[in-house]
Amino acid sequence: MKRLWNALFGWMLASAMLAACAAGASAADRTIFLTFDDGPLPGTKNVLSVLSEENVPAALFMVGLHVETIPNGRDLLAEAKSMPLVTVGNHSYSHANNRYRRFYGNTQAVVADMLHANQVLGLTPIVHARLPGRDVFRLPTVSREDLSINVAQWEREWLDYELVAEAGFYLYGWDFEWVHSDDGKPVQSVDRLVSEIDHLFQYGRFTQRGKMILLMHDEMFQDQFDGQGKLQSLIQKLKQRGYAFGDIRSYAPSNP
Ligand SMILES: [Zn+2]
Repeated sequence: MKRLWNALFGWMLASAMLAACAAGASAADRTIFLTFDDGPLPGTKNVLSVLSEENVPAALFMVGLHVETIPNGRDLLAEAKSMPLVTVGNHSYSHANNRYRRFYGNTQAVVADMLHANQVLGLTPIVHARLPGRDVFRLPTVSREDLSINVAQWEREWLDYELVAEAGFYLYGWDFEWVHSDDGKPVQSVDRLVSEIDHLFQYGRFTQRGKMILLMHDEMFQDQFDGQGKLQSLIQKLKQRGYAFGDIRSYAPSNP
């Protein structure tokens, strides 16, 4: 009986170790890149305090105009820049004034707007950036078009992304979004979002294998939406499920 017990125990130990190895392997393959757009805005303060408490990397793609116009905009920018795990990126100066059609007809004007934002944000090349409303990638080793744009729109709003990149920008799109309604309120519950993320890692194809860039917006994390609680809960649940959190600066190799 004792020998049987020893054999059984040994088998249990072996399978536990195997499971641990499998979990380790999959964690390395399952990396989430947290990205927050449009700050500084109400909500940015909560984002920064959760990131610092949970000690995870993230990219904040900021809007130059908001730095100048939002109360404490400059303080929030300075705080974000002081955090070693946070990358402050460029999300344009004007956010296209939310009139993309006009904005994206003129590459030179887009480049000028992006360079203006560099000045306000105090960024020097290479600058990690995301264009307003454009899910495109232009990195030394990754290039991808915005697949949500139809042909008519493409012809009307043709932008020379290469020229933007050559002005000193690494352009990042996204793989998945925590959606919000017009007033900024998050649409999916945290549990719903986590199950969508699980599903996508099982079946989805990301721009880079095993790496999901998650798009969120600072305004979703205002107190009125329990922003701090929701973001903290999301990060803790993803940690519990073995996901790793990636730094956008090491998202893709810089050299082909
Ligand atoms: Zn935006």
